[in-house]
Amino acid sequence: MQQRGVTLWFTGLSGAGKTTITRAVEAKLRAMGYGVEILDGDIVRENLTKGLGFSKEDRDENIRRIGFVSQLLTRHGVIVLVSAISPYRAVREEVRQKIGNFVEVFVNAPLAVCEERDVKGLYKRARAGEIANFTGISDPYEPPVNPEVECRTDLETLDESVAKVLAALEELGYLPSNAKATVA
Ligand code: ADP
Repeated sequence: MQQRGVTLWFTGLSGAGKTTITRAVEAKLRAMGYGVEILDGDIVRENLTKGLGFSKEDRDENIRRIGFVSQLLTRHGVIVLVSAISPYRAVREEVRQKIGNFVEVFVNAPLAVCEERDVKGLYKRARAGEIANFTGISDPYEPPVNPEVECRTDLETLDESVAKVLAALEELGYLPSNAKATVA
């Protein structure tokens, strides 16, 4: 199967929906026969970037390492789904330039919605002052200026968000039709 590698970079606040959307996109792509890998920020911080904290310097280093692995996979034809808050615009642009085949997905829900969801209970702890440098509360988040895809997860269903991502991949030429024919 001829598959073009690409990195799909999901950025957004904690609780915006990055993990949920990447998992659903992964399932769809695998069912279509594509080779996919997920680099999830929470998991990567337990191995590849273990020991890094949440200062700007450490956050940027976290993103550079994820970007490095993503670049290797991408050039070998993998569809890489990166799910990481990645709050700083400049380092996102840096990895975009390095990787080349790069699709930025802004997973966007207002802070109030993310906080209300509080999937991992972290906002509550951040508000209580138990977690420092928490993105959106006590640390900045710089939204993408011109993302290829924006998923407004407070306004659309998960299925709609997933469909948007897949449509963008198709439009940008990353889903060759012969691959789909192979598994149809
Ligand atoms: P993140 O990985 O960005 O921290 P999660 O995916 O862990 O966020 O959590 C997002 C939460 O929002 C989940 O509980 C999910 O069910 C919910 N949600 C509601 N609508 C959507 C949507 N359209 N897309 C993704 N998640 C959604």
